[in-house]
Amino acid sequence: MPARFVRNAAYAILDFIFPPSCLSCAAMVPAGRQRVCDSCWDSIERVSPVLPLYIETREKLVVSGEVESLVSLFVFEKEGAFQHIAHALKYNGYESLGVELGRRLGEAFRVVGEEGDVLIPIPLHKRKLRERGYNQAERIAHGVSMVTSIPVRTDLLRRTRFTQSQTTLTLEERKKNMEAAFEVRPGKEDDVKGRTIILIDDVITTGATIVACAATLRNAGALRIVASSAALAS
Ligand SMILES: [Zn+2]
Repeated sequence: MPARFVRNAAYAILDFIFPPSCLSCAAMVPAGRQRVCDSCWDSIERVSPVLPLYIETREKLVVSGEVESLVSLFVFEKEGAFQHIAHALKYNGYESLGVELGRRLGEAFRVVGEEGDVLIPIPLHKRKLRERGYNQAERIAHGVSMVTSIPVRTDLLRRTRFTQSQTTLTLEERKKNMEAAFEVRPGKEDDVKGRTIILIDDVITTGATIVACAATLRNAGALRIVASSAALAS
């Protein structure tokens, strides 16, 4: 019996015994894979081009000289539905929520008409990847890819250093430290050169991680970098 069939049957039985409830508000949701109810999705504030948080974050990224543009969908609000979704995705193993976020983000790409050659999720250090079992940014990237048909590449960029808390460092030291944390995999430079690359993360706050990845890719010859995240946080 195919594994997928067994898994689907197991989900159906579980749904029958424990009727599924929304991860954010605990309201009942229809059986199936939907784990967040429609009204919770609708309750999350959307990013718009005139939203001050969007303008400020975009400015911070563009000023770095490494990033050309920013596409984000939701506003991260403490105790809001997005925080519940992000938490379930990151810490409770709800991988499918990442794909769902990505599909919604992919629609935003269609709306703003932003395009690219390749989607690269911000890589996790392999130690973190082992702990979590998956990279949440990669799940989001796959959702974006389903809508936009832009391929996901996880073999081009890697995190070489486990970044520790940087609170004791100066801004300049922090920047250097972050930049040294990523590298284009040896032998993959030709797949980066001249390309427009869309970097995908779950949440962008300071943008330091995205800028460090962008700098690494630009040094390897990437033409344009578009930063993208499911949400922006202040
Ligand atoms: Zn709900």
